[in-house]
Amino acid sequence: MSVRGTKRKYAEDGPEMGESAAFGSPADLRVLWPVAAASNTDLSPQPVALRGDDYYKALYTEGLDFRLLAERDPEFKPVLESNSHLDFANPKSVMQLTKTLLKLDFGLLADLPMDRLCPPVPNRHNYILWLKDLLDSSAPSPPDSGDTTRRIVGLDIGTGASVIYPLLGCAQRPSWSFVATDVDEKSLAFARKNVRLNNLQARIRVVDRSVTDCLVPLDELCLEAIDFVMVNPPFYASKAELEDLTEQKDRPPNSTCTGAPVEMVCAGGEIGFVRRIVHESLVLKKRVQWYTSMLGKQSSLKVLIGILKGHDVSNYAVTAFVQGNKTRRWAVGWSFGDRRPSLSASRGCEPSGGKKLLPPPTETTLATWSVLQADPEKLKRLERNICDTMGNLDLVSWTWDKALARGVGRADGNVWSRAYRRRRAWERRQLGSDETAQEGPSSPRGKGPGRKADQDPGQYIFGFSVALQVWRDEGVEEEKVAVVARWLQGNDYTNFESFVGFLLKSIRLT
Ligand code: SAH
Repeated sequence: MSVRGTKRKYAEDGPEMGESAAFGSPADLRVLWPVAAASNTDLSPQPVALRGDDYYKALYTEGLDFRLLAERDPEFKPVLESNSHLDFANPKSVMQLTKTLLKLDFGLLADLPMDRLCPPVPNRHNYILWLKDLLDSSAPSPPDSGDTTRRIVGLDIGTGASVIYPLLGCAQRPSWSFVATDVDEKSLAFARKNVRLNNLQARIRVVDRSVTDCLVPLDELCLEAIDFVMVNPPFYASKAELEDLTEQKDRPPNSTCTGAPVEMVCAGGEIGFVRRIVHESLVLKKRVQWYTSMLGKQSSLKVLIGILKGHDVSNYAVTAFVQGNKTRRWAVGWSFGDRRPSLSASRGCEPSGGKKLLPPPTETTLATWSVLQADPEKLKRLERNICDTMGNLDLVSWTWDKALARGVGRADGNVWSRAYRRRRAWERRQLGSDETAQEGPSSPRGKGPGRKADQDPGQYIFGFSVALQVWRDEGVEEEKVAVVARWLQGNDYTNFESFVGFLLKSIRLT
């Protein structure tokens, strides 16, 4: 069943049933870090405030208002033409736009060289938003809880002169830090300067690499494990390919490219670059939770997903970056861990190759009712029905959070199949009432027949949540209640499929 509109959690009579403030509440605004005195530049330092995630999500969802930008930033005014248009063919104007957006929207300062890539902020911001979703929704515990304080370390391969990804990541999340690499001397020098300008030396480490070095140098950096790898790789395999494509393309307005060859071209193009990361990841495996890359060509998605599947990597994510930018970019991420990311992070686009390229879905809406039909009494009974159903299963754990209207559970095998439940009931009868008393339905399960004694317990772990959510059906302008099942952990999609089948038979609004 497809669900349109915005879902949010159902809570009995909590005020949080209302919409969340689009730009975060005043309580969300906290001073993040003291801004460096940038007396050696003409950019005036701004107080840097950390806003809530809602503020960042809303950025660039609508077109930029250049007139407003000029009012807010005196340095933007001179590049704006009399008709309030920006000359995207003029590298100076494009660079000022990048600096202005970094300053106004993130409180960041940047000094950029004219002969290197000038990053479009909305597109780079999209990558950070996606990473936040990917990491938050596959956090160890509790996942999807909105906890933004988890310490995260990321590696940005090819950070460029702007060091834009580490800056954007650190501005939004005080618990994030980065290692940023590059092979280009000039970019490295500017990257270091930009880190200093924003007083982020304690959180962003800029590291020189050479083109023949490995791309994910955890051992050399003395890092046992990190949370993610990100890269915006050189897209093209040769200078000729770059020139060909820019000639063929009706160049979108903000594509003024001041990129140097080292930024645009590498052996094998973006597929060659990401293939190298895939090969390194096959050795490093879980030492990085998410390996990710942006892609300039949609056709690269299909090739890279094929490579990942060829290596039996089933936990992967794809998305497209379109927010506020007509130039489309794609991204792919993969993990050797068994934490499953949200639907929005893992199936963020439908590639031209079709749905078969997407990873298995991690969320299913089991049923929906209109709010009126699902009155509070019925919802309470539904909640009890869910908890009783889970309590009767031989789960490793099950906890219901009343405030979130969500339960999180774990099983160490398919304990909901009819065959398993029958066998278990028979065993209980054989053992008599003693065991039934010791091992009540909601207690952690002992050595049940869910898995065989010689099997690794972690291998068969299946983590899930079942939640009641209220959402607005825009089609009929009606508030609805939904029961949503989410696959949180595990390697086997068929477990989630059959678990959903079991829930569909067991959960009722009466
Ligand atoms: N991250 C920046 C720059 C991307 S351009 C942005 O998004 O705007 C690609 C970058 O990768 C360039 O800065 C280039 O110098 C760097 N690069 C190319 N080969 C590399 C390698 N083998 N290791 C690390 N960086 C590399």
